[in-house]
Amino acid sequence: MTIAYISLGSNMGDKVESLRQAVELLHQNSSIEVTKVSSIYDTDPVGYEDQDVFMNLVVEVETTLSSEALLIVCQAIEQQLKRVRIIRWGPRTMDLDIILYGNEVIHTDNLIVPHPRMHERAFVLVPLAEIAPNVVQPVENTSITELLAQVGAEGVRLFSKITHVDKFIQSDE
Ligand code: ATP
Ligand code: CA
Ligand code: CA
Repeated sequence: MTIAYISLGSNMGDKVESLRQAVELLHQNSSIEVTKVSSIYDTDPVGYEDQDVFMNLVVEVETTLSSEALLIVCQAIEQQLKRVRIIRWGPRTMDLDIILYGNEVIHTDNLIVPHPRMHERAFVLVPLAEIAPNVVQPVENTSITELLAQVGAEGVRLFSKITHVDKFIQSDE
């Protein structure tokens, strides 16, 4: 059993509903339990700026899947939510990135964990700090709280307070 953190982002269509569906699909996987969900944040685009704002959140999962298998599940959920994307870092209906997988450091052809840009992205660190403030990023050897203090929270705004995984999936909050 490994505790992993996954960042979810959407900036096309009904973004909040897409996030809810993606969390539900993760939770429905028999090898994944979504144990925590951050609030939803609306965030200014980074990288390619001429696009709509994103909605982002981070979930904590407990999983018996390998990191490679977890990536395949994440990519299948992107496909299920009909991810469309033309420009690198451009608009997409759904993006799932594995941020942390236990305290493993992974470098394969299709997977780098910790996510190589997580420690410089406020849209990852703000929601992650909400549910995992004391977790240590194993490459930077720095806690999430400290990484967030270095980066700051500019461009990231609380959109909707989320507290319970089940209530969120049932869309009661
Ligand atoms: P960024 O990685 O900067 O957030 P992106 O999410 O837009 O950019 P994608 O096009 O979604 O990038 O992913 C490109 C490839 O990144 C995927 O095919 C996947 O194999 C690889 N990848 C490497 N590390 C990870 C990770 N930790 N989580 C998800 N995908 C990863
Ligand atoms: Ca991404
Ligand atoms: Ca991605």
